[in-house]
Amino acid sequence: MKFKTIAVCIALLMATLNFLAEGPVSAQAEKINVVATTTQAADAVRIIAGDKVNLTGLMGAGVDPHLYKPTEADIRAMNEADLVIYSGLHLEGQFDKVFEALGERSIRTYPLSDPVKNAGYVIETLDAKGASAHDPHFWFDPRNWAMAVEGVAEVLAETDPTNGDLYRANAKAYSADLDLLYQWSLEAMSGVPEDKRILITSHDAFQYFAAAFGWKVVAVQGISTAAEASVSDIQKVAKAIMDSGIPVIFVESSVPHRTIEAVIESARAQGGKVRTGIRDLYSDAMDAPDKYGGTYIGMFTHNVATIVRSFEVELPVYPETLAPKPAAELIAQ
Ligand SMILES: [Zn+2]
Repeated sequence: MKFKTIAVCIALLMATLNFLAEGPVSAQAEKINVVATTTQAADAVRIIAGDKVNLTGLMGAGVDPHLYKPTEADIRAMNEADLVIYSGLHLEGQFDKVFEALGERSIRTYPLSDPVKNAGYVIETLDAKGASAHDPHFWFDPRNWAMAVEGVAEVLAETDPTNGDLYRANAKAYSADLDLLYQWSLEAMSGVPEDKRILITSHDAFQYFAAAFGWKVVAVQGISTAAEASVSDIQKVAKAIMDSGIPVIFVESSVPHRTIEAVIESARAQGGKVRTGIRDLYSDAMDAPDKYGGTYIGMFTHNVATIVRSFEVELPVYPETLAPKPAAELIAQ
């Protein structure tokens, strides 16, 4: 045998041994199936797992998760999933039965709100019937969201241990970004004079957001959008606007505009001077995944910048390292 042939033989042998040690390529490439209910949940999985999992996001841009009913295709995707990640605290009001059925079939479901709830950071509130309930909008404090994404990394690592270290490393890096986002937002929101720090919105999604920055919230509707705002709710908010002298009222992307229009009409009829924010706020749903507002950081930056600029207050310098980059006009000082 010539030297060259021996070399080729050795190479082939090595390749065979490698193959035997690592197993067939197809088994290696097999990805776990993950379903995420809300746009925020899907964004978290995308950031932690990238292309290491097959991700199906159920709710699209601008969809109201309180009212969203899972479709047949959604139920099929969940039945075929290795892991279903949802927001929890009854945000997904129409999913109780589906989650129960998944539990019976031993398909793992994981609520993003769990670490926040276990740490005792959940805000108590009242539901439409006046009973005590947990406010589901926990993600509106970036410190809560950091806990949630670290929880996602853990549950992904348990389901897919091969990539566990990667998931944990991604969560750690992203938590540092969320901390930067929080620091910038705190500085921005603190720029509004103390007596003006009241956020008036259509539904009560911003209690965590307000608490994170020392603001108050006045909302026309309760914590869920399932109940329509009554005439008395509208008058109550109109009166609060008159009493507080807050000049701005915000419209949310996933809630019909008519409620806020009614409040503005009522306030103006009583001689109040009030305007809507310079842009809509994202509340329970983000934008499409390829848009700036389709990422958590983008959505949050959009909201903070919109609120602060609507009060005609300047923004602090945006952290250079935060991605995705906001459009210049959004963060113009
Ligand atoms: Zn909501």
